[in-house]
Amino acid sequence: MKSLSADRRHFLLGAMGAAGAAALPLPATWAATRPLIDSREVAPGVRFVTGAGANVIALRGPDGQVLVDGGLAANARALMDHLDAKRLPVKALINTHWHWNHTGSNELLGKAGVPIIAHENTKLWMQRPITIPWDKREYPPVPAKALPTKTFYTEGKMDFGPHEIRYGWLGQAHTDGDIYVHLPKSNALITGGVLATGRWPVMDYVTGGWIGGLLEAGRTLLKLCDDRTLILQGAGEVATRAQLQAQTDMLDTLKERIWQLMRKGMSDTDIIAAKPTAEFDAALGDPTQFLQSAYKGLWGHVREQRGVV
Ligand SMILES: [Zn+2]
Repeated sequence: MKSLSADRRHFLLGAMGAAGAAALPLPATWAATRPLIDSREVAPGVRFVTGAGANVIALRGPDGQVLVDGGLAANARALMDHLDAKRLPVKALINTHWHWNHTGSNELLGKAGVPIIAHENTKLWMQRPITIPWDKREYPPVPAKALPTKTFYTEGKMDFGPHEIRYGWLGQAHTDGDIYVHLPKSNALITGGVLATGRWPVMDYVTGGWIGGLLEAGRTLLKLCDDRTLILQGAGEVATRAQLQAQTDMLDTLKERIWQLMRKGMSDTDIIAAKPTAEFDAALGDPTQFLQSAYKGLWGHVREQRGVV
């Protein structure tokens, strides 16, 4: 399906051709404010939507759809237009974690009475202000109507049309409210922010993420998939089990390496200077933020490491 904006552009181009007008400008504000939302069906009834601020997965049933994540609030209406939500209403929304670019459709759908499913910790974070240092931003509590309405602690499942939807908590990983959404009939696995390919994974230590938990979450996800599983991550393209394995192996190596540097008494600045990520930097970029987050997160889990300082 093309995005609404793409359809409009085609319409405008068609009108230009018909009128023979060489330069019919787009409305100045329109091009700047319409997000370039696009999507494709990656398995029967499973639509992978990009461009809304984070990847959105739309599961289609005979009389509606279930969404996993919702992009940014500013894009929520455009996302619903793109998904033709007036004709195929959203029956439920699942949040993989609290981050603003995944929960931005909550208010719009919550006001319409759509159930919102999330881990209890996700709801708790959304009720308080959160300052994210690397973003230099404070995120205020969300309006009451944007809060998850059906929370859980361990796992849950739902049948929806042809889909069997299973979800479960991934512990303290990217945040402390991360969940996976597993679609066994489609052999697809939605990972939220836990997997990041082609860039450094984020460990949001402000809301409970840390490198050891992210490593364990990767191991949990690996048990749910095989070499043919479609791995639908929160940003970027559809991934493979091999990419999930590669991230897990890397975190296993780096967790130990960073911990050993911490045991020597190194600060985060010392650790960054020691370049413990050197063999991964060409592929993943500047590791500074990753290392600072790993350091801060590890300090919160000192007792779980061998050889307490
Ligand atoms: Zn996130």
